[in-house]
Amino acid sequence: MLFDLQPKRRREDLYDREEELKEFSEAIELGETLILLLGIRRLGKSSLLNVALSESGKPFSKIDVRSLYFTHGSIPQELLARKLIEGLLKSLKGRDKVRMELVNVLSRVKGVKVSGIQVEFDEKPDLAGLLERLDAWAEKTGRRVIIAFDEAQYLRLSGIRYDGLIAYAVDNLPNLTFVLTGSEVGMLHDFIGLDNPKKPLFGRYAREITLKRFSREQSGDFLRRGFEELGVKVQEEEIERVIDNLDGIVGWLTLYGYLRGVRKLSEKEAIEELFERAKALVLDEVSALTRYSARYWYILKAVSLGNNSWSSIKEYVEFKAGKINDAKLSALLKNLVKYGYLKKSRDGYSIPDPVIKEVLKRVNLPLGKFLTLP
Ligand code: ADP
Ligand code: MG
Repeated sequence: MLFDLQPKRRREDLYDREEELKEFSEAIELGETLILLLGIRRLGKSSLLNVALSESGKPFSKIDVRSLYFTHGSIPQELLARKLIEGLLKSLKGRDKVRMELVNVLSRVKGVKVSGIQVEFDEKPDLAGLLERLDAWAEKTGRRVIIAFDEAQYLRLSGIRYDGLIAYAVDNLPNLTFVLTGSEVGMLHDFIGLDNPKKPLFGRYAREITLKRFSREQSGDFLRRGFEELGVKVQEEEIERVIDNLDGIVGWLTLYGYLRGVRKLSEKEAIEELFERAKALVLDEVSALTRYSARYWYILKAVSLGNNSWSSIKEYVEFKAGKINDAKLSALLKNLVKYGYLKKSRDGYSIPDPVIKEVLKRVNLPLGKFLTLP
């Protein structure tokens, strides 16, 4: 179903993304070792990744780094190793011979015990050693193993130098392909540091696949098909209005379709509910930022209200939260661009997602949520 809210897993539920899937499989076939899947939140990175991995026919492991980070508060090596192995075994469901082969290989890694789908460690696992074994197995059997980190920029917050480990693997283990996705494109770039001479991956080649929003035509076609699938009739004028409001971001189009087509709300109710849910999501997402500095909130608020120049943002922020020095403001703005909440262009700063913009415009600072003003 096109309007299913979960990240899609099956090709038939994924609308379009033909080019991106082709590029992904081309990179895999060429034996490239690093693929980046980029784009702001809700453009369908996880969905594309799921489908690309399952269509690849290769053993793969997909690790949802964001949820690991938020459930555990950090990402120790042991956890990562366990997720990696469990994912690989899962991807080989129904391919018992290959699975057994892999279990054998893994059992020979120091400290690792695999039984069924259970993974245990006698001692702290050596992640580099594990990757080396996987590479050697892939080499011997003519396979390629894909290791995907969804929202990989959260690895940065783990306190462990995973960038160094990935760099080592990308350079030295040619039978493994790493796929990193990131909503916080600037953060992900910082993490892997392809352009930073001080970082271990400096100067390496990476295949970058950047997801775009749907065009007006695609958005309309997506909505029409989704409603048709559900046997729900929707007027053309409504489709046009929805496209105007949601601007080709597939996550919002899907949510609208779900509320309208599955939950059977009226157009007005569906839009209201969509903004309610968006509000909860946005507050949740920006709370990590605003906990660090409430000024992030005021900056976003300023831009949502149409202040797009540096000086008008400064004026607004100072009006709300008191004096701020120029360097500090610039640093905060730069971070917001890195996190993907703001876009900077010749016309100044803007919020790339119209729904988030609208939410920020409407919502007032939830009292008590913000403690600091550094
Ligand atoms: P991201 O990982 O970029 O935040 P997701 O893959 O989680 O995005 O997708 C956001 C929402 O949009 C989900 O509800 C998902 O089912 C839907 N979605 C994403 N891409 C597509 C697509 N190509 N076709 C249909 N639905 C999609
Ligand atoms: Mg995702």
